[in-house]
Formats: sequence, structure tokens, C-alpha cells
Amino acid sequence: MKVVYADNNATTMVAPEVIEAMLPYFTEHYGNPSSMHSFGGQVAKKIEVARQQVADILGADPSEIVFTSCGTESDNAAIWGILRANPHKRHMVTSRVEHPAVYNLCKYLAQSGYHVTELGVDSNGMLNLNELADAVREDTAIVSIMYANNETGVIFPIEEIGAIVKQKGSILHTDAVQAVGKIPLDLSKSTIDLLTLSGHKLHAPKGVGALFVRKGITFSPFIIGGHQEKNRRGGTENVPSIIGLGKACELAKKFMSEETTRVKQLRDKLEDEILKKAPDPRVNGHRTQRLPNTTNMSFEFVEGEAILLLLNEKGICASSGSACTSGSLEPSHVLRAMGVPFTAVHGSVRLSLSRYNTMEDVDYIIEHLPPIIRRLREISPYGRETKVKEQTARASARI
Ligand code: PLP
Repeated sequence: MKVVYADNNATTMVAPEVIEAMLPYFTEHYGNPSSMHSFGGQVAKKIEVARQQVADILGADPSEIVFTSCGTESDNAAIWGILRANPHKRHMVTSRVEHPAVYNLCKYLAQSGYHVTELGVDSNGMLNLNELADAVREDTAIVSIMYANNETGVIFPIEEIGAIVKQKGSILHTDAVQAVGKIPLDLSKSTIDLLTLSGHKLHAPKGVGALFVRKGITFSPFIIGGHQEKNRRGGTENVPSIIGLGKACELAKKFMSEETTRVKQLRDKLEDEILKKAPDPRVNGHRTQRLPNTTNMSFEFVEGEAILLLLNEKGICASSGSACTSGSLEPSHVLRAMGVPFTAVHGSVRLSLSRYNTMEDVDYIIEHLPPIIRRLREISPYGRETKVKEQTARASARI
């Protein structure tokens, strides 16, 4: 069956060049990078090449890159690392739309005696920076605000956020898992102190990530063990995946400007056509301050799961912010924080593209998604009810 993969914010295909770069590190170069012999030493050297490649896409110094096992670990390492290094500071600030890697950690911290201020967002998914300025206190150890939202693609003005955080004397961590590889970043001229990225969102494998820790930031390791990563993360390195992550960063940097424009054109066509062709659509999230590859749309009075199942029958892979998807019983906390009406939260679909998507893919989704929505509205009791109300209203207007 034809497969159109439009769920790239969930995970991406590993680039063939990345697999090729990784393979020798499973077979002939299997040494431990910490070993004294040159068999391990050559692997250690290759890890340094990968560190440089990751640093290059961020505009960072290689010494500021710590390899981890995933985005979730990097987020935990950043927040715990700063809290542990500053035990006298018991307050932190975050937003209500963070990924669970930060959101649920902050809930846990709040239950464990830390003070956590959660900043709300407006209907476009944007923060109020005055609220942020009021929230940062003398005892604020860390502010953790994401770079770009995984569900809506909304991009926060991270440098403005950083300027406020710096002025107040605190530390800024940003979860940039959805931003790295999709939009240009330059940490050499930035207010960001710590930044999270994850391999599998940029065509590297699952199970590898990195944390940028700016020089001079005091940070306690999250995983305590051996001396790997200059004592910042214990554990023998996942060598093939680290090499894959380096290659993926090199490729993303190379393709960035060309592919960002092309993917944005695909996303815009997809969104515009679905807005025209499907009944009662809405786009969730700021229309311009947004990742070029993501659209989050809602269709009133239909269930997101039903849309996904019918898309799946056509071979189209997408995600939903409605209940029960991704094993959660709760509808999307991001869409709820934005005040998206309940009926629309339940009928939300996220389509996220990558450099491997084509215009043919987009045309295929445009062909199949609107009829699916119409079909579901026909059988939805709410949809029928609204239709009857609309017909009655039109009839009375004619009288
Ligand atoms: N942060 C964001 C914004 C994400 O989208 C994700 C994954 O979806 C993560 C963190 C977690 O990354 P990982 O799956 O590598 O743990």
C-alpha cells in the first residue's frame, strides 16, 4: 500500500547517508572510546568529529555539546543539572505548552517541594512576555521554555525571552527538539544557556540526543557514573548513533535553506487547500511564527482518532491532539492551554512534513482528507445537529 508519511514531528526516517556513516561502528570499529588502545582511540576521535558537526549546526563550541540518550534525557539533565547545582534556589518557570519531557518533570518537581510557575499562552499559542518578566524571581534557578512547539509548530521569541531571563539573573534552558534541523539557530550570539536536541527528529536514529551547556554554566551531571563526556554524563557512549547524529546535523545544515523553503511551500499548499475543501476547519497556532513543516488543524464535531484511522486506511500517517492517542486519556494540554474549544480539540490533526515529502504526497493528502472529514460529519450526531440548525437558520433567513 502507498504510504504518505506526514508525522515527522513524531519521528523521522533515518537518512540513508546517516545509516551508511553508522554501519562501520557496529562492525569493524567497535572499540570503546574510553579504552587506552588505538582501536578504541580512533572511535573516540570519530565522536569528536560528530561533536563538531552537532556544534556547527548550533553555532556552538564542541566543548559545549554533551551527548545523551534522547531529548527527554537532555531536558531532565538540563533542569535537574541546574537545580542540583543551585540548591538554595527552589523556584523555576516554564510554560503550559511544553512537551511532557519538561511538563511532567515540572509537575513532579512541584509535588516534590519546588515552586514552579507555569506561564499560559494566548489563542495563537504565544506567551505574554510581561508575565514572564513578573514570574522570574531572585530564587529562580532556571527558566525552561521550548523553542518550537511539537503540536502546533509555534515558535517562541526565545532571544527576547532570554534577554528578560538574563536581566533577572537567571538561567535559560530551551527544548529545541523540534527546531534543530528545521530552522537556523546561532548560539554564538544567543541568550540561551542550555539547549536540548534529539536525533530522531532530524533523520538520525532514535535513542540519541544532545544537550548544549554554555561554557561557564555550573551544571551537575544527571547520570552519575564514569568520566565520559567530561564528567557531564556517565555511561559508555552510543557510538554508532552519535556518529549518525553528527552526520544528520551536517546534512540538515547543508539542506537547510533550500529545504526549509520547499517544505514550507508544501505545508502552505496543504493547509490552504484543506482550509478551502474541508467543512469548518481551523488552524491551531500562530500562522507565521511557526515551523515551516507543521500544520495543526481542527475540524469541529469529528473525532481526531476517527480521522487518523481513516487516513491510515489510505496509507497517510498523521497525529492527533485528541484523547486516547499516544496512550494518553487526556486531550492535548497544548490546545487546551490555547483555549481551543473542546469540540475542536477533539477533532484536531497534526500533519508534519520533512525534506523527504513531495508535492505528490501533499496532493494525495488534499485528495483524501476533506472527504474523510465530510464523511465523519455526516455520521456525527453533533454534525447532523449543526447541519439541521444551519438549514433552519438559512430557511428562516429566506422567509
Ligand atoms: N521535546 C519535544 C519538543 C519533543 O517533540 C520530543 C519528542 O517528541 C521530546 C522533547 C522528547 O524527545 P525524545 O523522544 O528524544 O525523548
